[in-house]
Amino acid sequence: MELRQQLIETANAMNASGINRGTSGNLSVRLNDGFLITPSGINYSELAPEDIVEMNIKGEWGGSIKPSSEWRFHRDIYRQRADSQAILHAHPVFCATLACLVRPIPAFHYVVAVAGGRDIRCAAYATFGTQELSDHVLTALTDRKACLMANHGLICLGADLSRALALAIEIEQLAQVYYQCLAVGEPVILDDEEMDRVLEKFKDYGKLTPTVRQP
Ligand SMILES: [Zn+2]
Repeated sequence: MELRQQLIETANAMNASGINRGTSGNLSVRLNDGFLITPSGINYSELAPEDIVEMNIKGEWGGSIKPSSEWRFHRDIYRQRADSQAILHAHPVFCATLACLVRPIPAFHYVVAVAGGRDIRCAAYATFGTQELSDHVLTALTDRKACLMANHGLICLGADLSRALALAIEIEQLAQVYYQCLAVGEPVILDDEEMDRVLEKFKDYGKLTPTVRQP
């Protein structure tokens, strides 16, 4: 019950942060051998703990409330990524802008390393809710904690809900700066050696993983 409440609070924080509007995003957290996920089509502000859908790792659920239509990639990520305890999906404006250009985020800023590598990839397009989309997302998430999704949005993985949200906020800010750079010219890209150095430092720091900023 506590985890359901946390999921609702994070869903509302996601909208309050401006990275998501309405019910376009979705959020989940690992629970035992399955996960809890936000339902399809209910406003976050109206969510009650009993509206949260519990799914098993096969993708089955009980009750009359349907899980988010994107449950498939949540399930597949939990299956393949032991490091992921929470997953956030949203359509933040600047991430979605780059995603519609099918433009990955290169090492134009050292904080790009926050997603775990030298860049933030953009998963190939497939219809929402499909296995094909899930497969593309898993590929783009290889050695990464986040990726864009072509003509769609963003996915972030976290060790918990608040870290997944903090990562999404961080990446949306990077996407905004990258977009602004592109409006003026081509940003200078940091070389692989420098990014590897940054990645190493982020590891040492360990807890550089951002925490949620209070409004
Ligand atoms: Zn979506």
